[in-house]
Amino acid sequence: MEEGARSCLLRFRHRLEEDMKPPYLMDHMISDGVMSMDEEEKIRTQPTRKDQAVALLELLLRKDNNAYISFYNALVKEAYDDLANLLHDGLPQILSYAQNNSSDGLTSYVKMVLSEGGVPQRPVVFVNRQELLNRVREKLYQLQKDSGWVTVFGMAGSGKSVLAAEAVRNHGIIEECFPGGIHWLSIGQLDKPDLLVKIQSLCFRLEQSLNGQCLNRPPSSLDEAKERLRFLMLRRYPRSLLILDDVWDSAVLRVFDIHCRILLTTRNRSLTDSVSGAKYEVEVESGLDENKALEILSLYTKTKPHSLPEEARSIVRECKGSPLVVSLIGALLKEKPNRWRYYLSQLQQKQFKRIRKSSSYDYDALDQAMAASLEVLPDEHRKLYKDLTVIEKDIKIPAKVLCILWDLEPEEVEDILQEFVNKSLLFVDSHNKPYLYYLHDLQLDFLVEQNRDQLENLHTKVVRQYQQHYRNGPPTSGDEESLYWIRFLTYHMAKANLTQELYSLMFSLNWVSIKARIMGPAHLINDYMEYGPILDKENSEVRSQFQEFLSLNGHQLEQRPFPDVVQLALSQPQTSEVYRQALQQAQNLTITG
Ligand code: ADP
Repeated sequence: MEEGARSCLLRFRHRLEEDMKPPYLMDHMISDGVMSMDEEEKIRTQPTRKDQAVALLELLLRKDNNAYISFYNALVKEAYDDLANLLHDGLPQILSYAQNNSSDGLTSYVKMVLSEGGVPQRPVVFVNRQELLNRVREKLYQLQKDSGWVTVFGMAGSGKSVLAAEAVRNHGIIEECFPGGIHWLSIGQLDKPDLLVKIQSLCFRLEQSLNGQCLNRPPSSLDEAKERLRFLMLRRYPRSLLILDDVWDSAVLRVFDIHCRILLTTRNRSLTDSVSGAKYEVEVESGLDENKALEILSLYTKTKPHSLPEEARSIVRECKGSPLVVSLIGALLKEKPNRWRYYLSQLQQKQFKRIRKSSSYDYDALDQAMAASLEVLPDEHRKLYKDLTVIEKDIKIPAKVLCILWDLEPEEVEDILQEFVNKSLLFVDSHNKPYLYYLHDLQLDFLVEQNRDQLENLHTKVVRQYQQHYRNGPPTSGDEESLYWIRFLTYHMAKANLTQELYSLMFSLNWVSIKARIMGPAHLINDYMEYGPILDKENSEVRSQFQEFLSLNGHQLEQRPFPDVVQLALSQPQTSEVYRQALQQAQNLTITG
């Protein structure tokens, strides 16, 4: 539901709750198809009229624009003129979307579709690569009638993701080719459990925007996930586009081989060889052409292109037009406009030059640009930026996690993050509330390279800060912050070599129960496999007892409402550590209860 509509409902919630009689209104909403019989039943069985009204508004707030319009119409039909008037200003402008077409095709309809699908916004400074853009759009039009794959390939940092997002930022494309919507999924380098979690959350998102709620339990294996997605894409979201950003592995693509429409970005041109269907591809050159790169510098420094100093061209040449590097330098020059010569000489000196074995990409320029960007940070902020070295690739984190890591107030953290974002040292996903922050892969490579000898200490800091903050027990809610800790605490412990901490966490039924409830069992099972060799040094028997418990009960732990883990654990063999802990918890409960 649009923000305006939602806020209107919230603003007049009390008036609505006091005055309306839900049963009559719901009849209209059912016949408009925006409410199910089950939903009506749940509301109708509330004890009082007021309770019913409260429940109806709760439900409505989770629904889409159509539900708002239907509710408004129902109020009019039932002669609640006063209430209808209150809601009139919040009516979503569905019909006028197509009409307020601005010159770049960015209608509010486009904005809404992209925002709902999680497509990233343009970078702070953006230049149009029209020819390339046309090529991608031309290929997307090939998907108008039939399913298929469009691959955008090129080197890291060449602007593939920005291009993919830009290609769909267009009214015509959405309306003519993908009226079912656009759904963005950041893939990156991931293993099977991570992939499963990604698809689970995609299914959740898709089902939730259909019903306002998600009734199905999440798919518990990749095969099941593939089938669920196939059903959703073919039946519920026909003619929609999935964008898979930064795919590394063809095994990932096979999960999406379900005859739908896909745009993917990748460094590896031949990924789609192993999947079926029509295939198209567009190559992105690693650098911008000179004029476009100069345009970035000119936008950052607010200087007309022809008035740029001569060093500008040399800077562009030195970094081969890499959009990422030019943006980093541009952000520096924005603040220190008289440092053209200085930054150029930094780029040329290659003082941070290191040998990289595995990549054909010329990272030198990135290293210089990153080093220069870090140099202008105040000392204490540079230290904080260094802490980001230990975040896993492609993982986005909320500011609250950094409040804990840095032991700072939220306002202070926000200011610091904003500073990093302004300098292109960090990127922000502002579709999500709370905002999520992330680094470009190459920036993480740079940090890891630079802090290679301190990785253990940096991970230890994360664990210690967590322990300090959550000394009374792990977080148990499902918010973004808790999710981060529940998911990555074991990873930080393992990397920090804090084996004692890792044993006591992973050999605890309490932790297993919390993690399974919040994330499902797949991640947990993966933890035991991944850290098995470390755990086995302490006690391989206990490790296998926990693992066995999870494999046997995986299916149960997927269920919602979540089962009683102590009960499940009590059916383990009496010799098992899992049983012992469950028994102890049960006895404690009897004593206290
Ligand atoms: P890739 O997906 O190829 O790794 P991205 O699309 O993430 O690269 O781009 C890397 C960075 O380069 C962006 O964060 C942005 O700062 C800059 N960039 C890329 N394309 C453009 C563009 N068209 N205009 C301005 N900056 C761009």
